[in-house]
Amino acid sequence: SAEKKRYLVGGNWKSNGSVTFVRDMINNVLNKMKFEESKLEVVIAPMIIHVPSAKAMLHSHLHVCAQNIAAEGKKAQTGEVKAEQVQDFGLKWAIVGHSERRQHYLESNELVAEKVKRCQECHLTAIVCIGERLEEREAGQTHDVLKQQLDAVKASVKDWSRIVIAYEPVWAIGTGKTASPEIAQEAHEFIRKWIQGSVSDAVANATRIIYGGSVSDANAESLITQKDIDGFLVGGASLTEKFGTIVETVN
Ligand code: PGA
Repeated sequence: SAEKKRYLVGGNWKSNGSVTFVRDMINNVLNKMKFEESKLEVVIAPMIIHVPSAKAMLHSHLHVCAQNIAAEGKKAQTGEVKAEQVQDFGLKWAIVGHSERRQHYLESNELVAEKVKRCQECHLTAIVCIGERLEEREAGQTHDVLKQQLDAVKASVKDWSRIVIAYEPVWAIGTGKTASPEIAQEAHEFIRKWIQGSVSDAVANATRIIYGGSVSDANAESLITQKDIDGFLVGGASLTEKFGTIVETVN
């Protein structure tokens, strides 16, 4: 694609928030943020029960994102939300394979790949989360882990314009231990080279690789200036006014 990449910043609210929080965060922070849509896309992923009100309240240049979708299932799946339903509701985005789902809900690389396929079939842009655990980094296995996670989803993807890769080292999520700009850049470069080698140069240039793991207003600048970092997936700080500062820093 000859298209110029736009940065992407996502706010992942996880299982946080209340009716009042959603209203106040949107009115007091999110709808007041100033950024250029030509340079930057911003997506917000509320808990599923808050999606309808968030979608109704958010200014139209802020997009609502699902935090998860169901894998393929022939049987009824109590408690799950299907990609079709996310699409039917008018959303265009979903997070897939977040490390909390991989760890606590035992999502394997294969299951994540199936979910990516469901997103592709329903024209959702998938923010595919990958990243190594601390013991894997310490054992020098970071590249192997990233490669396995990427290899697993490759066959699910027909349209790479609907894929964003989020590099989220597990040891940096919710811990306050952000990856240094050098560590993050090194991993992003590895991911971009994987895309180059496994898909094409054009796709490697066009695909956004965003960083997640203790992103804050204090470290956003030093990370976003790295060559291969195209935005952020923000957890904790996306629940506060710091998110506005992060968006304005990227913009
Ligand atoms: P954090 O979460 O910013 O709170 O570390 C990031 C994420 O889980 O996406």
